[in-house]
Amino acid sequence: MKIGIDAGGTLIKVAILDKDGRTFKKYPSSEIDGVISMLNKDYARDEIYLTGGKAEYIAEKLNFDVTSSIEFDATFRGLTQLLKEADMDLDRYVYLNVGTGTSFHQATRNSQKRVGGSGVGGGTMTGLSYLLTGIGDFDKIIERAKDGLRDNVDLKVHHIYNGRPSPIPGDLTASNFGNILNAQKTASAEDQLIAVIGLVAETVTAMAINLADAFDTKNMVFIGSTLLNNEVMTDIIYRYSELKNARAFVVPNGEYSGALGAIS
Ligand code: ATP
Ligand code: MG
Repeated sequence: MKIGIDAGGTLIKVAILDKDGRTFKKYPSSEIDGVISMLNKDYARDEIYLTGGKAEYIAEKLNFDVTSSIEFDATFRGLTQLLKEADMDLDRYVYLNVGTGTSFHQATRNSQKRVGGSGVGGGTMTGLSYLLTGIGDFDKIIERAKDGLRDNVDLKVHHIYNGRPSPIPGDLTASNFGNILNAQKTASAEDQLIAVIGLVAETVTAMAINLADAFDTKNMVFIGSTLLNNEVMTDIIYRYSELKNARAFVVPNGEYSGALGAIS
Protein backbone atom coordinates (compact mmCIF):
# COMPACT_ATOMS: atom_id res chain seq x y z
CA MET A 1 0.00 0.00 0.00
CA LYS A 2 1.21 3.52 -0.84
CA ILE A 3 0.08 6.44 1.28
CA GLY A 4 0.59 10.07 0.22
CA ILE A 5 0.12 12.71 2.88
CA ASP A 6 -0.10 16.46 2.35
CA ALA A 7 0.00 18.05 5.79
CA GLY A 8 -1.12 21.67 5.39
CA GLY A 9 -1.83 24.54 7.74
CA THR A 10 -5.47 23.54 8.28
CA LEU A 11 -6.04 20.06 6.89
CA ILE A 12 -4.02 16.88 6.45
CA LYS A 13 -4.97 15.32 3.12
CA VAL A 14 -4.29 11.61 2.60
CA ALA A 15 -4.32 9.57 -0.62
CA ILE A 16 -4.20 5.79 -0.23
CA LEU A 17 -3.34 3.57 -3.19
CA ASP A 18 -3.82 -0.17 -2.85
CA LYS A 19 -4.95 -3.09 -4.95
CA ASP A 20 -8.58 -1.95 -4.68
CA GLY A 21 -7.83 1.50 -6.06
CA ARG A 22 -7.62 4.95 -4.57
CA THR A 23 -9.11 6.43 -1.40
CA PHE A 24 -8.94 10.01 -0.15
CA LYS A 25 -9.24 11.09 3.48
CA LYS A 26 -8.71 14.28 5.42
CA TYR A 27 -8.07 15.18 9.04
CA PRO A 28 -7.85 18.56 10.80
CA SER A 29 -4.19 19.56 11.26
CA SER A 30 -4.99 20.07 14.95
CA GLU A 31 -5.21 16.25 15.13
CA ILE A 32 -1.71 15.77 13.70
CA ASP A 33 -0.42 13.86 16.73
CA GLY A 34 -3.31 11.41 16.47
CA VAL A 35 -2.53 10.88 12.77
CA ILE A 36 1.14 10.25 13.64
CA SER A 37 0.17 7.65 16.30
CA MET A 38 -2.10 5.90 13.81
CA LEU A 39 0.69 5.78 11.19
CA ASN A 40 3.19 4.42 13.73
CA LYS A 41 0.72 1.82 14.92
CA ASP A 42 -0.93 0.59 11.74
CA TYR A 43 1.07 1.69 8.72
CA ALA A 44 4.75 1.13 9.57
CA ARG A 45 4.98 -1.57 6.86
CA ASP A 46 3.53 0.63 4.12
CA GLU A 47 5.25 3.12 1.84
CA ILE A 48 4.59 6.60 3.19
CA TYR A 49 5.16 9.75 1.11
CA LEU A 50 5.00 13.16 2.77
CA THR A 51 4.63 16.75 1.61
CA GLY A 52 3.23 20.06 2.90
CA GLY A 53 4.27 22.56 5.56
CA LYS A 54 3.88 20.07 8.41
CA ALA A 55 5.58 17.14 6.64
CA GLU A 56 8.85 17.54 8.48
CA TYR A 57 7.12 17.52 11.86
CA ILE A 58 5.44 14.23 10.95
CA ALA A 59 8.66 12.70 9.56
CA GLU A 60 10.53 13.51 12.78
CA LYS A 61 7.93 11.72 14.89
CA LEU A 62 7.52 8.59 12.80
CA ASN A 63 9.57 5.62 13.88
CA PHE A 64 10.15 4.40 10.32
CA ASP A 65 11.55 5.99 7.14
CA VAL A 66 9.45 7.93 4.66
CA THR A 67 9.96 9.75 1.36
CA SER A 68 9.43 13.52 1.43
CA SER A 69 8.92 15.89 -1.46
CA ILE A 70 8.67 19.62 -1.96
CA GLU A 71 5.05 20.78 -1.71
CA PHE A 72 5.00 22.68 -5.01
CA ASP A 73 6.48 19.79 -7.01
CA ALA A 74 4.16 17.22 -5.43
CA THR A 75 1.10 19.40 -6.03
CA PHE A 76 1.99 19.89 -9.69
CA ARG A 77 2.48 16.14 -10.23
CA GLY A 78 -0.87 15.36 -8.60
CA LEU A 79 -2.65 18.17 -10.42
CA THR A 80 -1.28 16.99 -13.76
CA GLN A 81 -2.74 13.56 -13.06
CA LEU A 82 -6.13 14.91 -11.93
CA LEU A 83 -6.39 17.20 -14.98
CA LYS A 84 -5.74 14.23 -17.23
CA GLU A 85 -8.37 12.13 -15.44
CA ALA A 86 -10.88 14.98 -15.82
CA ASP A 87 -10.07 15.27 -19.55
CA MET A 88 -8.89 18.82 -19.06
CA ASP A 89 -6.25 19.07 -21.71
CA LEU A 90 -4.40 22.32 -20.95
CA ASP A 91 -0.99 23.02 -22.38
CA ARG A 92 -0.55 26.42 -20.76
CA TYR A 93 -2.34 27.65 -17.66
CA VAL A 94 -2.06 29.29 -14.28
CA TYR A 95 -3.18 27.50 -11.16
CA LEU A 96 -4.04 28.74 -7.72
CA ASN A 97 -3.90 26.58 -4.64
CA VAL A 98 -6.46 28.22 -2.36
CA GLY A 99 -5.50 26.59 0.91
CA THR A 100 -5.18 28.31 4.27
CA GLY A 101 -3.28 30.88 2.26
CA THR A 102 -3.05 30.97 -1.52
CA SER A 103 -0.15 30.26 -3.84
CA PHE A 104 -0.01 31.10 -7.53
CA HIS A 105 1.71 29.15 -10.27
CA GLN A 106 2.24 29.35 -14.01
CA ALA A 107 2.34 25.97 -15.70
CA THR A 108 2.91 24.22 -19.00
CA ARG A 109 2.37 20.52 -19.62
CA ASN A 110 5.74 19.60 -18.10
CA SER A 111 6.69 22.21 -15.56
CA GLN A 112 5.46 24.84 -13.15
CA LYS A 113 6.85 27.99 -11.64
CA ARG A 114 5.61 29.44 -8.38
CA VAL A 115 5.07 33.10 -9.10
CA GLY A 116 3.66 34.36 -5.86
CA GLY A 117 1.34 33.98 -2.96
CA SER A 118 -1.25 35.80 -0.93
CA GLY A 119 -2.29 35.58 2.69
CA VAL A 120 -5.88 35.83 1.48
CA GLY A 121 -7.23 32.29 1.35
CA GLY A 122 -9.39 29.77 3.15
CA GLY A 123 -8.09 30.86 6.53
CA THR A 124 -9.27 34.38 5.73
CA MET A 125 -12.70 33.05 4.85
CA THR A 126 -13.16 31.18 8.13
CA GLY A 127 -11.29 33.68 10.35
CA LEU A 128 -13.00 36.82 9.11
CA SER A 129 -16.40 35.10 9.11
CA TYR A 130 -15.87 34.14 12.72
CA LEU A 131 -14.79 37.64 13.76
CA LEU A 132 -17.80 39.24 12.09
CA THR A 133 -20.56 36.74 12.87
CA GLY A 134 -19.25 34.23 15.42
CA ILE A 135 -19.62 31.49 12.77
CA GLY A 136 -16.31 29.77 12.03
CA ASP A 137 -17.43 26.35 10.80
CA PHE A 138 -16.59 26.03 7.10
CA ASP A 139 -19.80 24.24 5.99
CA LYS A 140 -22.03 26.45 8.14
CA ILE A 141 -20.47 29.61 6.68
CA ILE A 142 -21.34 28.42 3.16
CA GLU A 143 -24.85 27.30 4.09
CA ARG A 144 -25.71 30.62 5.73
CA ALA A 145 -23.98 32.68 3.01
CA LYS A 146 -26.42 31.23 0.45
CA ASP A 147 -29.16 33.43 1.97
CA GLY A 148 -27.00 36.56 1.94
CA LEU A 149 -27.11 39.61 -0.32
CA ARG A 150 -23.78 41.08 -1.32
CA ASP A 151 -25.35 44.40 -2.32
CA ASN A 152 -25.96 45.19 1.35
CA VAL A 153 -22.21 45.08 1.99
CA ASP A 154 -20.26 45.53 -1.24
CA LEU A 155 -20.12 48.57 -3.47
CA LYS A 156 -20.55 47.75 -7.14
CA VAL A 157 -19.44 49.80 -10.10
CA HIS A 158 -23.10 50.57 -10.97
CA HIS A 159 -23.64 51.98 -7.46
CA ILE A 160 -20.96 54.57 -8.17
CA TYR A 161 -22.05 55.34 -11.74
CA ASN A 162 -25.68 55.43 -10.60
CA GLY A 163 -27.31 54.27 -13.84
CA ARG A 164 -24.99 56.20 -16.14
CA PRO A 165 -22.69 54.39 -18.58
CA SER A 166 -19.59 52.93 -16.92
CA PRO A 167 -16.27 52.11 -18.62
CA ILE A 168 -16.22 48.65 -17.00
CA PRO A 169 -19.15 46.27 -16.33
CA GLY A 170 -21.47 47.68 -13.66
CA ASP A 171 -21.73 44.30 -11.98
CA LEU A 172 -18.04 44.27 -11.01
CA THR A 173 -17.27 44.93 -7.35
CA ALA A 174 -15.86 48.43 -6.97
CA SER A 175 -15.12 47.99 -3.26
CA ASN A 176 -15.51 44.87 -1.13
CA PHE A 177 -17.36 45.95 2.04
CA GLY A 178 -17.48 49.44 0.55
CA ASN A 179 -21.27 49.77 0.67
CA ILE A 180 -21.54 49.36 4.44
CA LEU A 181 -21.43 53.07 5.21
CA ASN A 182 -23.54 53.95 2.13
CA ALA A 183 -26.32 51.41 2.49
CA GLN A 184 -29.33 52.44 4.50
CA LYS A 185 -30.01 48.83 5.44
CA THR A 186 -28.03 46.90 7.99
CA ALA A 187 -26.15 43.83 6.85
CA SER A 188 -27.31 40.50 8.30
CA ALA A 189 -24.89 37.72 9.29
CA GLU A 190 -25.77 36.04 5.96
CA ASP A 191 -24.92 39.22 4.02
CA GLN A 192 -21.59 39.51 5.83
CA LEU A 193 -20.72 35.86 5.20
CA ILE A 194 -21.35 36.04 1.46
CA ALA A 195 -19.35 39.28 1.36
CA VAL A 196 -16.39 37.56 3.06
CA ILE A 197 -16.55 34.72 0.53
CA GLY A 198 -16.79 37.34 -2.24
CA LEU A 199 -13.71 39.15 -0.92
CA VAL A 200 -11.60 35.99 -0.95
CA ALA A 201 -13.00 34.75 -4.29
CA GLU A 202 -12.48 38.07 -6.07
CA THR A 203 -9.03 38.67 -4.60
CA VAL A 204 -7.68 35.34 -5.79
CA THR A 205 -9.49 35.56 -9.15
CA ALA A 206 -8.15 39.07 -9.80
CA MET A 207 -4.62 37.80 -9.19
CA ALA A 208 -5.26 34.77 -11.41
CA ILE A 209 -6.53 36.96 -14.25
CA ASN A 210 -3.43 39.18 -14.11
CA LEU A 211 -1.08 36.21 -13.93
CA ALA A 212 -2.85 34.48 -16.80
CA ASP A 213 -2.63 37.66 -18.87
CA ALA A 214 1.09 37.93 -18.22
CA PHE A 215 1.52 34.27 -19.16
CA ASP A 216 -0.44 34.56 -22.40
CA THR A 217 -3.22 32.19 -21.48
CA LYS A 218 -6.91 32.36 -20.58
CA ASN A 219 -6.87 29.15 -18.55
CA MET A 220 -7.03 29.42 -14.77
CA VAL A 221 -7.19 26.30 -12.62
CA PHE A 222 -8.31 26.46 -8.99
CA ILE A 223 -7.51 23.84 -6.35
CA GLY A 224 -7.46 23.73 -2.54
CA SER A 225 -9.97 22.69 0.13
CA THR A 226 -11.39 26.21 0.28
CA LEU A 227 -13.34 25.37 -2.89
CA LEU A 228 -14.67 22.09 -1.53
CA ASN A 229 -18.47 22.01 -1.90
CA ASN A 230 -18.20 25.78 -1.87
CA GLU A 231 -20.67 26.70 -4.60
CA VAL A 232 -20.94 30.21 -3.26
CA MET A 233 -17.24 30.79 -3.90
CA THR A 234 -16.98 28.88 -7.16
CA ASP A 235 -20.02 30.73 -8.59
CA ILE A 236 -18.31 34.04 -7.88
CA ILE A 237 -15.04 32.80 -9.38
CA TYR A 238 -16.79 31.61 -12.56
CA ARG A 239 -18.86 34.77 -12.97
CA TYR A 240 -15.94 37.13 -12.41
CA SER A 241 -13.72 35.14 -14.78
CA GLU A 242 -16.39 35.22 -17.46
CA LEU A 243 -16.78 38.98 -17.14
CA LYS A 244 -13.04 39.21 -17.80
CA ASN A 245 -13.08 36.72 -20.70
CA ALA A 246 -10.95 34.21 -18.82
CA ARG A 247 -11.70 30.50 -18.32
CA ALA A 248 -11.84 29.17 -14.76
CA PHE A 249 -11.66 25.44 -13.99
CA VAL A 250 -12.22 23.88 -10.59
CA VAL A 251 -10.64 20.43 -10.65
CA PRO A 252 -12.51 17.52 -9.02
CA ASN A 253 -10.53 16.29 -5.96
CA GLY A 254 -8.07 19.14 -6.60
CA GLU A 255 -7.47 19.49 -2.86
CA TYR A 256 -5.75 16.08 -2.98
CA SER A 257 -3.21 17.13 -5.64
CA GLY A 258 -0.37 17.33 -3.10
CA ALA A 259 -1.19 14.03 -1.39
CA LEU A 260 -1.50 12.23 -4.73
CA GLY A 261 1.61 13.81 -6.24
CA ALA A 262 3.70 13.05 -3.15
CA ILE A 263 3.49 9.38 -4.16
CA SER A 264 6.15 9.05 -6.79
P1 ATP B 1 -1.75 25.47 3.27
O1 ATP B 1 -1.56 24.73 1.96
O2 ATP B 1 -2.00 26.93 3.06
O3 ATP B 1 -0.70 25.12 4.27
P2 ATP B 1 -3.89 23.55 3.72
O4 ATP B 1 -3.16 22.63 2.81
O5 ATP B 1 -4.30 23.03 5.05
O6 ATP B 1 -3.10 24.92 3.94
P3 ATP B 1 -6.36 23.34 2.27
O7 ATP B 1 -6.65 22.05 2.95
O8 ATP B 1 -6.19 23.30 0.80
O9 ATP B 1 -5.17 24.10 2.95
O10 ATP B 1 -7.54 24.39 2.58
C1 ATP B 1 -7.83 24.82 3.90
C2 ATP B 1 -9.11 25.61 3.86
O11 ATP B 1 -10.18 24.76 3.43
C3 ATP B 1 -9.57 26.14 5.21
O12 ATP B 1 -8.98 27.38 5.50
C4 ATP B 1 -11.08 26.24 5.03
O13 ATP B 1 -11.44 27.48 4.44
C5 ATP B 1 -11.40 25.15 4.02
N1 ATP B 1 -12.01 23.92 4.57
C6 ATP B 1 -12.68 23.00 3.82
N2 ATP B 1 -13.12 21.97 4.56
C7 ATP B 1 -12.73 22.23 5.82
C8 ATP B 1 -12.88 21.53 7.05
N3 ATP B 1 -13.53 20.36 7.13
N4 ATP B 1 -12.31 22.05 8.15
C9 ATP B 1 -11.64 23.22 8.10
N5 ATP B 1 -11.48 23.93 6.97
C10 ATP B 1 -12.01 23.45 5.84
MG1 MG C 1 -1.94 22.94 1.14
